[in-house]
Amino acid sequence: MSNIRFNALQAIENRADSGIGSAVTGENGSIASYFGQNVFNDEAMRRFLPENAYLSVKAAVQSGQKLSREVADIVAAGMKEWAQSKGCTHFAHWFQPLTGKTAEKHDSFFTMTHDGRVIEEFTGAALVQQEPDGSSFPSGGMRSTFEARGYTVWDPSSPAFIMEVGGGKTLCIPTIFVTYDGLAQDYKLPLLRSQAFLDKAAVPICQLFNPQITKVSATLGWEQEYFVVDEALFNARPDLVMTGRTLLGRPATRHQQLEDHYFGSIPERVYEFMRDLEMECHRLGIPVRTRHNEVAPGQYEVAPVFEEINVAVDHNQLLMDVMERVARRHKLRVLLHEKPFAGINGSGKHNNWSLTTNTGVNLLSPGDSPSRNLRFLTFFVNTIMAVYRYADLLRASIAHAGNDHRLGANEAPPAIISVFIGEAMTKLLNRIADGKKTDDAAVKRALDLISKLPNLERDNTDRNRTSPFAFTGNKFEIRAVGSSQNCAGPMTVMNTMVGLQLLDFKADVERLMGKGIEKDEAILMVLKKYIRKMRPILFEGNNYSQEWKEEAARRGLSHHANTPEALAVLASPQAEAFYLKSGVLSKKELEALLVVQLHAYCTKLDIEAKTLIEMIETLVIPAAVRYQTELAQNFLALKQVGAEDAAGLQRDILQRVQQHLSAIREGLAKLRSAQARAHEEKNLMAEARLFCYEVKPQMERIREAADELEGIVDDRYWPLVKYRELLFIR
Ligand code: ADP
Ligand code: MG
Repeated sequence: MSNIRFNALQAIENRADSGIGSAVTGENGSIASYFGQNVFNDEAMRRFLPENAYLSVKAAVQSGQKLSREVADIVAAGMKEWAQSKGCTHFAHWFQPLTGKTAEKHDSFFTMTHDGRVIEEFTGAALVQQEPDGSSFPSGGMRSTFEARGYTVWDPSSPAFIMEVGGGKTLCIPTIFVTYDGLAQDYKLPLLRSQAFLDKAAVPICQLFNPQITKVSATLGWEQEYFVVDEALFNARPDLVMTGRTLLGRPATRHQQLEDHYFGSIPERVYEFMRDLEMECHRLGIPVRTRHNEVAPGQYEVAPVFEEINVAVDHNQLLMDVMERVARRHKLRVLLHEKPFAGINGSGKHNNWSLTTNTGVNLLSPGDSPSRNLRFLTFFVNTIMAVYRYADLLRASIAHAGNDHRLGANEAPPAIISVFIGEAMTKLLNRIADGKKTDDAAVKRALDLISKLPNLERDNTDRNRTSPFAFTGNKFEIRAVGSSQNCAGPMTVMNTMVGLQLLDFKADVERLMGKGIEKDEAILMVLKKYIRKMRPILFEGNNYSQEWKEEAARRGLSHHANTPEALAVLASPQAEAFYLKSGVLSKKELEALLVVQLHAYCTKLDIEAKTLIEMIETLVIPAAVRYQTELAQNFLALKQVGAEDAAGLQRDILQRVQQHLSAIREGLAKLRSAQARAHEEKNLMAEARLFCYEVKPQMERIREAADELEGIVDDRYWPLVKYRELLFIR
């Protein structure tokens, strides 16, 4: 029996025999000996740039100001020299369009002079700005086709790096992507704006405590979850190839709680992949540090040491790219989708966020002096207050088709945003909020205790895994971000909301100080007011429970269960005020963001529906019909020889097959009609809702029937690689 499934299984066996799929492009020696060797980092800059150019770049990164054309020329020449010494022949502006992926346009250093000589050059002009044809990237209507050009502009705050693909090496320059008018077309520019805005809002607050603080940056440490499957099996599943997730598939009889039993045979191959991935990451300066297997079979996680937010985002984007390439070398495929398999855990990307100062202090880390602790409390409370006020915008930033399968499902954070802070911090906040006004001394004593709590960090990190937003001792962990997402989306909202909140805090404190109230007392009074107000967002219980949904509704917290509802917020006056006041998005950019997100949602669901229909019609139905024919023939033969009693089993099975085929028939008709209605809908939000409320449920119904058939039809006829094979064969 030959079908795509058995061919795939055969391919794995053949490969195992020949030993293909475990080559590691080895590095010997310590990580330190090759870490960052493909990055135009500080060390490379010192070597390849004259001192004044080096200092200008440093200053530009600090201040965010532009470099002069002359300096840009010098930097470009140095960069080229460095890149060529490493074997680069091309350069590329590397950017992050609103697809969520990365894009790059390669150009050769090679050029011809007007008199026909071949030279290799890289000018400051080419470093600073390029004009890739932008027309094929989503713009949400910001560019009409006659002005389709987009511009990529160098971001000196993220170091250039060398991408090695096959034998080729390309110098990649991180850039923003904008329209002719300078409108953001990407994730990076809004993130940079939000970082600058937050810096400006946070420095004056820091200076209430320490005048030496002149810069505040957000830090990010992401934790990337992913699945790994064999390449041959991946290729035999049209749904994985087309949509990144399985649209069909009966759960394997073994569940994830037995996963540890499975660590025996796989790891060797996946481990080799991980080692290879880590080496590549380290050469690119991505400081990945931890790796481990996750809860579901075939699921893993990789996490770095945290970095400044812009660089951390770039590194995560780069990682996702590198993962895919390295996996192919091992005949494996990485699945970054939020829910590749029904019935087992999906993948997320926890974003650990904090604030750091030019004096090297983590503002969300309690310290050892009373003044440091008041500062800690200030940033701690203001961050939670920001979540309380802008939860809807945070929710919108994690809304997309893939995450809908995960959020609110059993193992994933709910779609209701709440904040977990742990027992010790809860006690402290209650003490402040409920204490008498004259109780400031007691509050300060309580604050001092904070730093003496031995296990604040460990306790909080482990205690409540169900919360979408948790304080973990010295940072907040945003757990509802999807595994495939560009972190810049949610991180832009984090920075912006905390920045806006800090502006209000400053005004509130100044008002009180204007009345002659002493600084520390004024701060505490304002914090007390905030704590009382933000209490509804604090939740220490089980976020997965039904009771929490009801309780959250009583508290007046939003629950946007799906992408269209979550995105609708972007059209609200609140969203407009949020983005315009902070300057992070203009009105046009905000409108475009909504259009791009809705459009992506509709397109993804449409592709899924089309893929499902094709799989059902060309794979599932034919397999079921074949088996049905065999059963019917057998049934007739038995009747002919007078063994009617013996034919009872065949008749039962025939009936069950028929019942599921009928359900599929009905489901297909309804799915097609729902899809047609969605296609006809002119209003994008209405279209998204049709996909969500009409198309998706029909896909689910069809899936149920097909998965039942998978459990009945002769295994030899079943053409789709089964869950047990996808998840357990490596
Ligand atoms: P673990 O969870 O394994 O105990 P940590 O809690 O230290 O490890 O870190 C988890 C993630 O949080 C890592 O990606 C780490 O880089 C990140 N992280 C730690 N400190 C910070 C910080 N100050 N800002 C941002 N991310 C951080
Ligand atoms: Mg974590």
